[in-house]
Order: sequence, then structure tokens, then C-alpha cells
Amino acid sequence: MTSNNLLDFDLAGLAVYCEGLGEKRFRATQLFRWLHQRGVSDTAQMSDLARSFRDKLGAACEVRVPAVLSEQASADGTIKWLFDVGGGDAVETVFIPEEDRGTLCISSQAGCAVGCRFCSTGHQGFSRNLSTAETLGQLWFAEHHLRRRLQLPEGTRAITNVVMMGMGEPMQNYAALLPALRVMLDDHAYGLSRRRVTVSTSGVVPMIDRLRDDCPVALAVSLHAPNDALRNDLVPLNRKYPLAELLAACDRYLEAAPRDFITFEYCMLDGVNDSLANAAELVDLMQGRGVRAQPLSCKFNLIPFNPFPASGLICSPRDRVKAFAGVLQDAGIVTTIRKTRGSDIDAACGQLAGEVQDRTRVAERRVGRAAIPIVPLDAQSARALATAARERPL
Ligand code: SAH
Ligand code: SF4
Repeated sequence: MTSNNLLDFDLAGLAVYCEGLGEKRFRATQLFRWLHQRGVSDTAQMSDLARSFRDKLGAACEVRVPAVLSEQASADGTIKWLFDVGGGDAVETVFIPEEDRGTLCISSQAGCAVGCRFCSTGHQGFSRNLSTAETLGQLWFAEHHLRRRLQLPEGTRAITNVVMMGMGEPMQNYAALLPALRVMLDDHAYGLSRRRVTVSTSGVVPMIDRLRDDCPVALAVSLHAPNDALRNDLVPLNRKYPLAELLAACDRYLEAAPRDFITFEYCMLDGVNDSLANAAELVDLMQGRGVRAQPLSCKFNLIPFNPFPASGLICSPRDRVKAFAGVLQDAGIVTTIRKTRGSDIDAACGQLAGEVQDRTRVAERRVGRAAIPIVPLDAQSARALATAARERPL
């Protein structure tokens, strides 16, 4: 039988666990700090814990972090790790350094069952949910590995922001996600402010409500289309939770934390969802109903599509992305265009694939689904993308 993994617990859970070992609850705080603030995995080394407590921990539990299978570094400084999570599955994690921050993009599942047409993970199908320890293990590893590697002074952190934008739909793995988020925010662990932890979702409505009540971190919603017909095709989950329901849930999320905003992500696909008419429809959608389109309530992040083999899709030309952004901006909606990072190592949004045993045959089922006609990636667009990636400064 495998022993308990200490990375599976948030502080409240660890307190209960320590009580079960016959220890006072407050001992859990000390243990928690050793684990997450100092990155110590060997309980024998936790010198200010009583020896009897250390002995109990040594016998009952351990810290297990998924093994690193590979590390790749991009010309722009982005780093991608591939973690072995067993059973033939491996997931990817990406570190994106910027001048004023270090962002870690974390995976929540091996594969994804949602199956969005433009997403490499979605094309792979679904194997399983990651545990809290496997989710948090990515942060634990990256933070402490980078601190050592970059020789950061004591008290300095490598990762200032976390985005749940790696492989998987985090809201379809809510039970494991929630304790992981709580550890990220906990001052005795990573101490990230809730504005620096973002959960990105394709729109699992009931879980948006749960998150609002449980742990209102920053929310990003992957919209990608201004109407149900198009969104049904691009994001199949829309058939279950159509736009009206999704946007109503966004309104409820904003009501709980009025000073915050929701980021809507919109992947720019040439000839599919990027016309100026689509942009105008999006403005109507935002202004015509609940979600408040004032600058502080929502903003749009246009993501130039990152190609991957077999997608058959191409990215909108730069001018069209700018024109699309212009329509939204003219309507008073704050709109940014996401800078692509790490595309030379397939680490950009939607390119994460890892290794996934497709246990649900999502990929097979996709064949035969009604699809909007699409244009394959031509050589010129491929060259333009490669050049854009090379020219991106750190
Ligand atoms: N499942 C969640 C989080 C992971 S995907 C979600 O869908 O929100 C993170 C972001 O990358 C989402 O906004 C997703 O739509 C976007 N994305 C997926 N594939 C992409 C691609 N090939 N190019 C650009 N963005 C992509
Ligand atoms: Fe899953 Fe998100 Fe990819 Fe859609 S975009 S398939 S929800 S990981």
C-alpha cells in the first residue's frame, strides 16, 4: 500500500492528519512551512519538529512529486517540464519568465475530455484527473528547483503567478483543484494573492459557482465564439452549458468579488471566428446581457492560435487580430493580445500534449463530428509563425 502523500493536503487537511497521528493541530503549520516554504521533502531534516513527531511522519507518510522526464528551454527563456504521473501518462508544466513576474502554467489532468477543436490536449483525449499532490507537485518542484538554479536569495520567490492553463479542464477536477489553490494562497505556503492565481475554464457552470463560494481566485473563461452555433463546434461543452448560462455564472462570480474582473480568452482562428462581424456580435453579447463590459468588470485576451500537427487550423493574420481588438476597444472593452511564448519548444497555449493514454476515446469520437470547413496550415503561415517566435524578446 502506498503511504500518504503530504502534498495532498491543504493546511486544514494537514491539521486533521496530524491530529490523527496524535499530534497537536498547530504542529501542522510547522510541517506545512517546511514542505512548501523551504521545499524540504525529507521529514527527518525538519529540525525544529520533535523527534517523536518526525519518526511518526517518517513511518506514515512521504512527499511524492512526479518525476521529471525532460526539460526544454525556449529561446525566449520559457522552460517546459514533462512530468511522469505513472500508467503511461505524462503532463507538461511551463515556466514563463517576464521582467516583473514569473508565471507557472500548471496542468490539472492527463489529457482533457472537453475536446476543443483548436487544442492539442483536447485532440489527445483523456486519461485521468491529477491528484492534489500531482497538481501542487508541479509548483513545489518548479519553485524550489528554480530557486536553487537561479541562486535566488533567501526569501525570494521564483514563481509570482500561477495559471491553471496547462493540460486539462481544472473545473472538471474540482475536488483535487480546491486544496491545491488553497495551498497556493496560504501565507504559510506560497502566499500568492488571489489575483495572482488564475483558473481558466472552458465553462463548467456549476463549478464556477462553487469556486466563487470556496476560493474566489482570478477567473479566465475560454469563450472563443460570440454565438452558440459556433461555440458548440469549437468548445463542445457549450452544448451542455450554453453562452447565456455561462455568462450568467460569470455575473454571479463578479457579484461575489465586485472589484475583480473576468478575463475572456478568445483564440483567433483564421476564417473561423475572427471576422469583424464576429467582433461586433461579441460586443453585443457583452453589452446586451448581464456581464458588465465596463473596463473593470471584464477584459478580453485575444490569443493568436498556436498551431500543432493535425489541427488543420491556422492563426488569424496579425492585422485581423488587431482589427478585431479595435472593435472591442472602440466599444470600451479592455482588450489585450497575448504574446506567444515558448512556441519553439511547443510550450505555448494549446500546444501542451505530454503523453496521454486516451481511455475515453475522445479522440476517436471526434472523427465524424460536424465541423466548420477549415483551411490547412500553409507553408507561408508556418514560416511567419516561426519568425514571430524567434523575434520575441525575453
Ligand atoms: N481547459 C482550460 C484551461 C487550459 S487551456 C480552458 O480551456 O480554459 C488554456 C487556454 O489556452 C484556453 O483559453 C484555451 O482555449 C487556450 N488554447 C487552447 N488551445 C490553443 C491553441 N492551439 N492556441 C491558442 N490558445 C489555445
Ligand atoms: Fe480541454 Fe481547455 Fe484544451 Fe478545451 S482548451 S480541450 S477545455 S484543455
